Amino acid sequence: MTLFDLSGHVAMVTGGNGGIGLGMARGLASAGATIVIAARDQAKSQAALSGFAEGSCFIQLNVADEESCRAAVAATLGRFGRLDILINNAGMSIRKAAASYDLVEWQAVLDTNLTGAFVCSQAAHPAMKHAGRGKIINIGSMFSIFGSGYAVPYSVSKGGLVQMTKSLAAAWAIDNIQVNAVLPGWIDTELTRDARQQVGGLHERVLARTPAGRWGVPEDLAGVAVFLASRASDFVTGAAIPVDGGFSASG
Ligand code: NDP
Repeated sequence: MTLFDLSGHVAMVTGGNGGIGLGMARGLASAGATIVIAARDQAKSQAALSGFAEGSCFIQLNVADEESCRAAVAATLGRFGRLDILINNAGMSIRKAAASYDLVEWQAVLDTNLTGAFVCSQAAHPAMKHAGRGKIINIGSMFSIFGSGYAVPYSVSKGGLVQMTKSLAAAWAIDNIQVNAVLPGWIDTELTRDARQQVGGLHERVLARTPAGRWGVPEDLAGVAVFLASRASDFVTGAAIPVDGGFSASG
């Protein structure tokens, strides 16, 4: 078995039917993992699954709903009898002036990006503990580090996700469960296509501010996902790793 081999491992990727989630799922699958795409859109998920080997599957999940999170993890365990890797990737944003959010909007972003990740992690914990190992990977953002004037609840949720990562890492290290975060820079996906339409000049600012001189693509996240899902990272926990073409390193 090589350091990065994931043969026989089962990975549940929330929101794994497109964008960054699919990029990471493809990386894990190429290392041998069986993929559970946990998301809302069945047609999109089935289309994404066509690229994976037989055995991978779609499980319905609304990550903003506690019962749905617990049911999706239970369904994964019922089907495969194990859950080795959980990637909390599902996310959304509402972009508007800071003073104009109502609490329904605030709560929708927090429930999807932060609370759902906590509930899925909590639901996965007993099986991982019983197995004697587990990997949880939370998808943060550059807004885990920087504030955002046009996406306040989003940056609050992503900042909280890093603190949750550190806290669960501390809590579950004793169970040999590693909990880490990935902080993507600006990646070309449906989410950021919307952002580019809504936020004037964003495209140019990202290009100017990213030392690598380009937007990322979902495949740029595959390698870090394999690393954090494999035994290569068994002594790495509580970390928040930027994958950003140098965005957060430059002034
Ligand atoms: P996409 O919009 O392409 O993907 C988001 C995914 O989340 C979709 O597959 C969607 O699937 C799923 N999703 C959204 N809401 C829910 C929900 N309530 N329940 C279950 N699934 C849900 O965006 P990205 O790939 O860009 O984003 C993925 C993650 O990466 C997010 O957490 C985002 O915040 C983060 N990120 C993205 C960056 C970027 O530049 N693109 C930068 C930094 C972080 P479905 O509709 O089927 O439910």
